Amino acid sequence: MPKEGLEPSSCKAGHGPEPCASTSSATSAEFIITYFILYVKKINRIQLYKIMSKNYDIIIVGAGPAGSMAAFTAAKLGASVLVLEEHPEIGKPLTCAEGLSRSMVNNYLDIEPEWISTELSGIIISRSDSEEFKFKYPNVGWIMNREVFDPALARRAVLNGTTLKLSSRAIGIEDNEVIVDKSGERIRYGFKFLIGADGMSSNIGKWMGIDTRLNLYEIDPCAEYVIEDIEVDQHFANLILGEKYAPGAYAWIFPKSSNCANVGLGLSPIKTKKHTKYFLDSLIREKFPEGKIKKRIYACIPAKILKRYSGVNFYLIGDAARFTDPLSGAGIANAIKSGVIAGRNAVLRLKGKKDYFKDEIKKEILNEIMFHYRVRKAYLKLNERDYNEIFRICKRVFDGHTVSDINMRSLVKELLLSSPRLFRVGFNLLF
Ligand SMILES: Cc1cc2nc3c(=O)[nH]c(=O)nc-3n(C[C@H](O)[C@H](O)[C@H](O)COP(=O)(O)OP(=O)(O)OC[C@H]3O[C@@H](n4cnc5c(N)ncnc54)[C@H](O)[C@@H]3O)c2cc1C
Repeated sequence: MPKEGLEPSSCKAGHGPEPCASTSSATSAEFIITYFILYVKKINRIQLYKIMSKNYDIIIVGAGPAGSMAAFTAAKLGASVLVLEEHPEIGKPLTCAEGLSRSMVNNYLDIEPEWISTELSGIIISRSDSEEFKFKYPNVGWIMNREVFDPALARRAVLNGTTLKLSSRAIGIEDNEVIVDKSGERIRYGFKFLIGADGMSSNIGKWMGIDTRLNLYEIDPCAEYVIEDIEVDQHFANLILGEKYAPGAYAWIFPKSSNCANVGLGLSPIKTKKHTKYFLDSLIREKFPEGKIKKRIYACIPAKILKRYSGVNFYLIGDAARFTDPLSGAGIANAIKSGVIAGRNAVLRLKGKKDYFKDEIKKEILNEIMFHYRVRKAYLKLNERDYNEIFRICKRVFDGHTVSDINMRSLVKELLLSSPRLFRVGFNLLF
């Protein structure tokens, strides 16, 4: 049944929310019938748009983890919610290594076993084939199966009353309406509140007047292959450091099972002019020459702190708000957190109450991101000798140990105080 919304009386008769459904098959038929009536009545295009308009309390653009969590939260609190997703299937195409830290999502989402590919219990850090160390980190997190996880989150939102429209690409915003392209048809949906959850290549921020552009310091191009027919320890994630593998960032081997892994890397374009594919192909030749490449992914991760990520009637969340970690590139947890925070606070706004979106985002997400952003800036100033030094110190701290938590501030302090050279580059991180 359709949700009444928070202020049903403000919806025009006949233009209320539609029943919840995973896709709208009625749209084409509606359009043809409406067009026929218009043809007979000689009504113009603008009136056509008005007649076809549908109004919701909240429209969310993007059905990734951020959008689905925002929808679930707001719909559960009684808002009428529409989620627009440009692709016909949720979770495809996927551009992610699927690592998720348990401590990052605690209190926000209980992870179901069927959403997981493997459960991790430790980490291997490598610098070359011959040099690596390993430590146990029980309950560190999981390698998710996002082709199952992302649709499951969307399904939870729909079960709580969200209307989800697939193959529906937001192409503009005008007068509190999102203009949508659905297989060539233009449809308008009205909102009282808008949430931009449209990922790395977000347009919502731009359309709402926010500068989301990224310069070369603020973007990490990535390449990743899903490789099968290999042998990996399915409970250990492997991070590989060094200019040879991933200049300015790192490479990863994230096991999806004992014979399949997401193998990828990011790099900083200020450190090399070579393409990510060049580095990944040579890593694969070195580590998994016999492996079968099942899928190739090329995408980018943002590392920027926006001056503004909300406005009078909108919030940006997840990658659209650049809530990815500037050091690790991880963004799933912050997408989930920002989604929950946005859903809850959007409902407060709709009720005319004070919201705490910015305060909560700062406390739960931005404080850490801002520190990591400063660490990243220092990291990008380092050279191969410094990376060797970091590797040596980390080996001393972690090798063979069992770790229950890694506190980034303490680790950075340890690194800076252990090396005069690192101290010179990063001493301001101590304050
Ligand atoms: C190579 C790579 C590896 C990564 N590995 C990890 C990792 O291991 N761990 C981790 O935590 N993070 C990782 N990330 C980051 C992570 O994938 C993102 O941070 C996360 O997906 C952000 O979620 P989101 O919901 O904000 O955006 P997304 O998951 O990108 O979802 C956005 C959705 O919006 C839709 N959309 C976009 N524009 C429109 C439009 N105009 N109209 C309608 N729909 C639209 C898209 O189709 C998409 O479904 C990785 C990223 C890359 C590129």
